[in-house]
Amino acid sequence: MNDVKIIVFDLDGTLYDDVVHFRYYADLLKDYVAEDKQEQFEADYNAVLKGQHSLKIGRAYDAKRDLILSHLNGVVQKAYNWNGEEIPTEDVTTFYPEAIPFDLTSIISIGDLWWVPVTIARHYGVTSEEAYACFMQTREHMMTEEFQLNPHEQFREVLQSLHKKYTLVLLTNSPQSDSDVIIEKLGFTSYFQEKFFEAQKPIKTKVRFSNIAEKFDVSYEEILSIGDNYINEIFPAVELGCKTIYIDAHGAGAGDSHTTTVSNLTELSKVLREKLL
Ligand SMILES: [Mg+2]
Repeated sequence: MNDVKIIVFDLDGTLYDDVVHFRYYADLLKDYVAEDKQEQFEADYNAVLKGQHSLKIGRAYDAKRDLILSHLNGVVQKAYNWNGEEIPTEDVTTFYPEAIPFDLTSIISIGDLWWVPVTIARHYGVTSEEAYACFMQTREHMMTEEFQLNPHEQFREVLQSLHKKYTLVLLTNSPQSDSDVIIEKLGFTSYFQEKFFEAQKPIKTKVRFSNIAEKFDVSYEEILSIGDNYINEIFPAVELGCKTIYIDAHGAGAGDSHTTTVSNLTELSKVLREKLL
């Protein structure tokens, strides 16, 4: 990590690790599910959280075929129907001859907890537009006074020290209005030299990193990407040659051998202190 100059942080699940808003999001999505399917929605959601469902963080969802895909950096290895039964290998090869293109609507990377309730809702007939409306409503809720957000204390201290030594950049898929409020609530506003919103990761991750490298006149080797979503923030950065730290809160596993993996913000704080301060 000696040559790192720029540190690019994701926001949700990276600068804070609270999870209460996912329940709020799941409830909004559930309202769009037909009444007779809402109980199944709830049962699936709880099963996923307990690790008792074929839908898992790190997998992907093919909304058109209603299949859950286990993959390595987009190369599909196995496919399961909603009940968890594996479909025949010949079908996997026919359906997915090449690495799958994650597009946020028809092939969804379930890279973090945001995508779990969405995927279940999609399975029960909710459209991607309706899901996006629920997402925006959740973000609005996160801006309100009643939504409390406290920074992880060790992480706050590390971030405060890091910003004096490195250029810190925020790169998030979330909109600016609510992200700014969240960062303000955390007390991190003054730490970031540059913030990029609605980044459309993973589709545009590489373009964003290329813009960052150009803007700050650094090479990819001098950029460290930190995030909790492997497909969005880590894999594209590894391919470019950036340094990476993956917050793997759900044990999904990194798909490469270069990435430093931690399981929570306590571990992340420790690694950052040891390697960068
Ligand atoms: Mg995240």
